[in-house]
Amino acid sequence: MLIKLTLSEIARACEGELIGPDQEIDTVVTDTRQVSAGCLFVALKGERFDGHDYAISAMDSGAVGVVSDRDIDVISYVKVSDTTLAYGCIARLIRNAFAGPVVCITGSNGKTTVKDWLSQSLSGKNVLKTHANLNNQIGLPQTLLELDDQHEIAVIEAGTSVPGEIERLANIVSPDVVVLTNASGSHFEGFGNLEGIAREKGCLISGAEPDAIVILNSDDPFFDYWCGLAHGRQTLSFGFTNAADLYVDDVVLSAESSTVTLKYRGESISAVVAGAGKHTVANGMAVVLAMVAVGVRFSSAVKALMSPILVSGRLERLRTKNEALLINDCYNASPTSVEAAIDVLAIQPVEKTWLILGALGELGEQEGSIHQALGIYAKKKGISCLVCVGPVASIAGISFRSGGGHAIFCDTHEEAAAVVCTLDKRHAILVKGSRSAKMENVIEALIK
Ligand code: ATP
Ligand code: MG
Repeated sequence: MLIKLTLSEIARACEGELIGPDQEIDTVVTDTRQVSAGCLFVALKGERFDGHDYAISAMDSGAVGVVSDRDIDVISYVKVSDTTLAYGCIARLIRNAFAGPVVCITGSNGKTTVKDWLSQSLSGKNVLKTHANLNNQIGLPQTLLELDDQHEIAVIEAGTSVPGEIERLANIVSPDVVVLTNASGSHFEGFGNLEGIAREKGCLISGAEPDAIVILNSDDPFFDYWCGLAHGRQTLSFGFTNAADLYVDDVVLSAESSTVTLKYRGESISAVVAGAGKHTVANGMAVVLAMVAVGVRFSSAVKALMSPILVSGRLERLRTKNEALLINDCYNASPTSVEAAIDVLAIQPVEKTWLILGALGELGEQEGSIHQALGIYAKKKGISCLVCVGPVASIAGISFRSGGGHAIFCDTHEEAAAVVCTLDKRHAILVKGSRSAKMENVIEALIK
């Protein structure tokens, strides 16, 4: 941990009460398996567990204090009203002690891709980054608590599933650089509509440092709204038109990469963007601007685009047992990311393109219309065959078929895998669906 803290400092920061003697702590843990001598144990409550059940055993194993929402029988504890909020407040103390720039990325799509691509591109520096996808009220503080005096920069992902979460995360991270990739129709269930999503993401701008640099997508319909939230902070925009500070010209999209000319403040540099799809070009531009924002020269930042960013389950290129190209994009799905992946499938140099689609979750009352629109989109893009898994994905199959396409309806992952298992190298198969649809089962069946 970057600095030592005392229980009384923590009680003050969390608006809690220290009960028992004050102590200095070395680390903060939430899992009894990580307890070490001198640590503070924060008793978090989840749906299936309650850390308070482990408070005494944490003290027995060497913890010097507990953060608890109730009175407990240990020598020193900080009593707070909500231990998850308190965990964030402790992380905020550590963040305040960090002198290097903190970049925080939010948006509906591309957060992890931008976070990993940016961290990889800053390889000359000692970067602390969010592990995997730990972007919520627990994962984000956990990441900041790992800051130590060797780190030069932090690259943090902030996600949301309930309104108000980004505001709380912003208060913890207080970024020096905000990257907002886009707002698209995912998680409608909590937010009502797209405006609700844009408002939620915008809270990262309002919660940034007063002199923060805010990186925005000028092609997003909410661009002007977000600029308004910047309130005097510098904005840098990226996009596909010359309205943006950084934009691309001469874009040629191909199966595995894109060639572009990047234009930024009078400079013009040609580059090959490693990774397929227009959305990858957009993510790449966000990475370049984030690098510029932390002091890298534009010409050096552009080189980042040429190194591929491989994130498992995102447009991952595999081969089936019969040598068909298998594009594994089943890590997660929102309407925009399905369209982006269909665009990539459509430009593969093969005779036939297959989409195996599982349900998209968390769409609320828009579920029907969005799946229907995806079927129409796949048909418009010339996809040869749509294999639907389950009743919700089948809504897309019905509209695909109504448009004259060949749709196949399956009940299980195994059935869907069986439909395509004999396809050979003349075919490309994209597998996509929300996390809850577990479409990786199809991938496993096809490569085993
Ligand atoms: P999550 O909300 O699950 O954390 P995320 O925002 O971190 O998602 P990624 O994990 O980078 O996003 O990508 C998720 C999916 O979205 C992948 O299928 C990827 O291909 C697609 N995707 C990535 N960037 C974009 C983008 N800019 N526009 C549309 N789709 C994108
Ligand atoms: Mg993510």
